[in-house]
Amino acid sequence: MFELDEWLNQRLIHQKDLGLHRSLRTMNSASGPLMQVNGEQKLVFSSNNYLGLANDQRLIAAAESTLKEFGVGSSGSRLTTGNTTWHERLEDRIARFKQTEAALLFSSGYLANVGVLSSLPEKDDVILSDQLNHASIIDGCRLSKAKTMIYRHVDMEDLETTLQETQTFQRRFIVTDGVFSMDGNIAPLNEIMELARHYDAFVIVDDAHATGVLGEYGRGTSEYFGVQPDVVIGTLSKAVGTEGGFVAGSKVLIDFLLNFARSFIFQTAIPPSICAASCAALDIIEENNRARQSLLANVERIKSSLDDMGYIIKGDQTPIIPVIIGDANVSMEFAKRLQDKGIYAPAIRPPTVPTGESRIRLTVTSDHTAQNVDYLLATFRSIGKELRVIE
Ligand code: PMP
Repeated sequence: MFELDEWLNQRLIHQKDLGLHRSLRTMNSASGPLMQVNGEQKLVFSSNNYLGLANDQRLIAAAESTLKEFGVGSSGSRLTTGNTTWHERLEDRIARFKQTEAALLFSSGYLANVGVLSSLPEKDDVILSDQLNHASIIDGCRLSKAKTMIYRHVDMEDLETTLQETQTFQRRFIVTDGVFSMDGNIAPLNEIMELARHYDAFVIVDDAHATGVLGEYGRGTSEYFGVQPDVVIGTLSKAVGTEGGFVAGSKVLIDFLLNFARSFIFQTAIPPSICAASCAALDIIEENNRARQSLLANVERIKSSLDDMGYIIKGDQTPIIPVIIGDANVSMEFAKRLQDKGIYAPAIRPPTVPTGESRIRLTVTSDHTAQNVDYLLATFRSIGKELRVIE
């Protein structure tokens, strides 16, 4: 026992020496612009609650009434005793929202990615994966019996070359994030779809950060570009404000995953109350794009103001705003000074991002008020000057 701990401790010390040791922060309040972080109130610019729905009264009311009727836990996998009318209602709702024939719920977006990629591509197939795809896509590829080839980030020439080089494989699957989680840019899904049709490949898109955010009705990257990929994966844990992942696509695809995706088959179903809250959230997202407009107005204001100050900003018009600081230590110091001024926004360093591209990763929500944004911008101006990141 002691030997195990000793060995693990060595590894943790090594991680600390590299400056990569992680630890938890404790939130003592509901998700929102202002939160109790480790006992102190902070203005939070790091949550995925993009539309403020995680603490919305309409979702809470929907969850509450279902909680009273169906209890707390689902108590079984979907294929045993865990499948309720609420799971089915939510799947129908997601399919309608994503404009596909059907949808399948998973316990998380992570498990949806793992389930699709480990079951769909087979031994003689190849997966073409964007260099900056999310860890859950990478893990799904690792579990797949197909070969994985990485193409340079959103580089359509490189994707085309890779498609030309892989003509001998039985089937080809292109997989991409819709919005990239560290760079905040939108994948060129229209171009990817064109290449896929030309080279006879299938397209899988992980719309975790685009669902609820992109497109007039918030349907995601497909709506934004007016295309329909073969497989759409998403999560309910970001703009939708609840929990769980999903796959949307044809009825046959959904039946296939229900039979072959191990992360679906062997997981306990998410609670019915969460399904009810998610249905309420999708109604709100589809019917009302006011929150989406205030979210994008906040994004626009922060990006253009930081740009005017002289900061290098990556990404497109999405709630993920990477502010490039450059040096890893300066980024850490920047994040620390933000915290001292009451703002929580994390520094992201190598190996998560390339050397020289350390950054503060801001995420913005529709709930951030004009005053919240004023304060963020004023603080960025003063810390940026103190640390000579801007002039
Ligand atoms: N895909 C992407 C691009 C993500 O950013 C995340 C969450 N960090 C996931 C999938 C996983 O979703 P979930 O949190 O629902 O497991």
